[in-house]
Amino acid sequence: MILFKNSEDLIAYIKRKGFGKPDIGFIPTMGALHQGHLSLIEASRKERAFTLCSIFINPTQFNDPGDYHNYPVTLENDIELLEQAETDALFLPSAATIYPDGTRQLRHYELAGLEDVLEGKFRPGHFQGVCQVMHRLLTIVGAAHLYMGQKDYQQCMVVQQLIDQTGLEVELHACPTMRASGGLAMSSRNARLTEAERQRAVAIHNTLTYIHEHLSKGSLQELKKHATTLLEKEEFKVDYVELADADTLEIVHTWNGKTALVALVAAFLGQVRLIDNMKVSG
Ligand code: AMP
Repeated sequence: MILFKNSEDLIAYIKRKGFGKPDIGFIPTMGALHQGHLSLIEASRKERAFTLCSIFINPTQFNDPGDYHNYPVTLENDIELLEQAETDALFLPSAATIYPDGTRQLRHYELAGLEDVLEGKFRPGHFQGVCQVMHRLLTIVGAAHLYMGQKDYQQCMVVQQLIDQTGLEVELHACPTMRASGGLAMSSRNARLTEAERQRAVAIHNTLTYIHEHLSKGSLQELKKHATTLLEKEEFKVDYVELADADTLEIVHTWNGKTALVALVAAFLGQVRLIDNMKVSG
């Protein structure tokens, strides 16, 4: 694996090797890598001639400064995992490379309804930050194929909107969520959980499964309420338990029995905020 700290070297290398846009599979991450990230590397490696991962902890997408400062950094281990996964290259840009003019006057992206619900509502500015970093990274690396995780369901929809809006010639591959035994979605933030919290955290997946199994036509209020109590019993502080149209993310209060639904959860266990989702119909 070749490591690039500056974009000029990366671009020159890709050119020298003769890779075109369609050859490049790109996996942007914030590091603290785990099997979920590696599944994206694997998906790209199967389909593309050149698999490029990036690690950049993007300050503009953190609405909570504490979350940013406590974000796990495990670079040596990340490099080892990427080597083992036979990643072709790692891009480690500095903040100055991503934001050459600073972060004060960045472009605003029109995300319509996607910014008013769920993560958009509970983490103001988060998806603007995601668009800012993704637009810049995609412009630098010039990949035609982007691999991201369905674990961040709303993020995938936002990035698709970014692609449509900016005319970037990129295909987004949304890959399945990798889970630890018990069903806990793998996440870099899991590293901040104690062992006891990790055990309790499986309640998120259990709650999503409960919703899946008990979904029925008509009002969804009771189902959401009960699902919330399941999490609260395990001492979660719940931001939301919602059911939304899987294609638009519009919140659904009464189900017609047909619309494809996704159930989404965000909740704190101690100081750690976890999110997960599950398609529950359609
Ligand atoms: P992050 O480093 O958290 O920004 O994540 C980088 C990419 O990995 C994003 O596209 C995430 O959706 C994806 N990802 C994170 N966790 C998982 C997981 N458990 N399974 C699959 N993909 C994941």
